[in-house]
Amino acid sequence: MKVPLTRQEVAKHTSEEDLWVIVDHKIYDLSEFVDAHPGGSVVLTQFAGQDATQAFYNLHRHEVLQQYSDLCIGTVEGEKPEVIDPQPGDLSKVPYAEPLWLTPQFKSPYYNDSHRKLQKAMRIFVETHITPEALQKEKDGTFISQELIDKMAEANILAMRLGPGKHLHNRKLLGGVIDGKEYDYFHDLIVSQELTRHNQRGFQDGNMAGMTISLTAVRQWCNDAQLMERVTEEVLSGKKKMSLAITEAFAGSDVAGIKTTAELSEDGKDWIINGTKKWITNGMFSDYFVVGCKTPKGFSVILVPKTEDVEVKLIKTSYSTTAATTYIEFNNAKAPRNHLLGVEDRGFVVIMSNFNHERFMMAGMVGRWMRTVLEECLKWTHQRIVFGKPLITQPVIRQKLARMISLVEANQAWLEQIVHQMNHLSYDQQSQLLSGPIGLLKNFATRSAHEVADDATNIFGGRGITQSGMGRVVEMFHRTYKFDAILGGAEEVLADLGVRQAMKFMPKAML
Ligand SMILES: Cc1cc2nc3c(=O)[nH]c(=O)nc-3n(C[C@H](O)[C@H](O)[C@H](O)COP(=O)(O)OP(=O)(O)OC[C@H]3O[C@@H](n4cnc5c(N)ncnc54)[C@H](O)[C@@H]3O)c2cc1C
Repeated sequence: MKVPLTRQEVAKHTSEEDLWVIVDHKIYDLSEFVDAHPGGSVVLTQFAGQDATQAFYNLHRHEVLQQYSDLCIGTVEGEKPEVIDPQPGDLSKVPYAEPLWLTPQFKSPYYNDSHRKLQKAMRIFVETHITPEALQKEKDGTFISQELIDKMAEANILAMRLGPGKHLHNRKLLGGVIDGKEYDYFHDLIVSQELTRHNQRGFQDGNMAGMTISLTAVRQWCNDAQLMERVTEEVLSGKKKMSLAITEAFAGSDVAGIKTTAELSEDGKDWIINGTKKWITNGMFSDYFVVGCKTPKGFSVILVPKTEDVEVKLIKTSYSTTAATTYIEFNNAKAPRNHLLGVEDRGFVVIMSNFNHERFMMAGMVGRWMRTVLEECLKWTHQRIVFGKPLITQPVIRQKLARMISLVEANQAWLEQIVHQMNHLSYDQQSQLLSGPIGLLKNFATRSAHEVADDATNIFGGRGITQSGMGRVVEMFHRTYKFDAILGGAEEVLADLGVRQAMKFMPKAML
């Protein structure tokens, strides 16, 4: 006769060889798992035969239970589990864990049904295909797999990351959830924000970030339409990879100070490139580089193919080498003459206008990361028992959460206002009117990230500086938020740009 799974029955299984516990009204037989438990066997025997729900959630997330669901032998007779298993694509029910437009009680003037469909499909794609690889690559430091690139190419995720435009017009996005012609900057924002949700900062850049900031320049500034279409097709199909190579050891913020040169060959057919570039994202696996060069009377931008005259070396930074951050040497490297982007000696405008989309994406991603950190803090402060009470009962902790919520919501609200302007301005108008506001927004996002990282780490205590377990998202954020404060324009430079652009519009009458 089968024994009913009562609490009395569970209480009989108390030895290391025969160890049962109850978590959330479910019974787990841990006899075979005792030796494999990462925290050791002692802590499990302390709860043998008992209800370990409070102790479990004081140390673990529910996802751990899902991971070991095969150890569950049943539910306590007459009881029902209370915690709901999240499924791929689900929205979080934690307050402020989703932007307001995804919270059922609230409305937004900016988003319609097509945005909601895209968001849902992106989340499922990220959770199913990207997150598992991101976790693995962030650890082992190897580069993104061709298999994942192919999947993203097929779903047109690579194409969506360039923002709205003609390149999307004949494409069905994510298997047809929306048509490419419908795609606007709010869809673009959704794609950027959903793509950060694996929470692996190195892999976030390793996942084709180089392409997103360099193919845009080719599409906007290439003078040869056939070349532009060919490169677009090669890259968006995932066959070729590319990166943006502007910064050098000699010059980062001060782009005009670069020393890499480009000269026309004697027969006038090719550009000959000589010089070095530093910290180039995805450079290790790129087939093309969009390179900033000095030309006789100024600064020019050239699309340079990878040949044996282009040497790449991996740079180690504080996030994972999966980002493929690269030092590059161009030693008489050749690029055909029609690979010039924009006008010779007037490359500055190519680089500067290209920055807007990069910085907008970065502000969106930092904002989303902060929100995830806030969600982690809200969960943790409800789970963690200190001095006999959940951490959330401490007023000082609630003050920190209040500040985090305000920063996260302020960033998203400003971002959405700017996205709305982007939807109504041409590329040129965006360059003229939005470089300053986007610069200020990115600056605000990373200054906010500084505060959020600091408070979140304190809230998590030792776990906030531990790379595995409950604090891993917070640890990663605290270790890597500075990347966004420097890449794509350092905070100080962007703040200054924002104010200088505003100064241009000051009415003379006020002076
Ligand atoms: C991981 C990583 C990936 C990168 N990826 C790429 C890439 O793919 N392609 C690419 O071209 N570059 C890339 N970069 C380079 C990045 O854009 C530069 O690091 C950044 O622009 C800052 O330049 P810098 O490091 O030379 O700092 P510097 O220009 O030397 O500036 C140092 C600091 O001085 C201050 N500062 C500078 N100018 C001013 C000013 N006018 N007013 C006030 N303060 C100022 C700022 O605090 C700044 O952080 C990457 C960098 C890193 C670290």
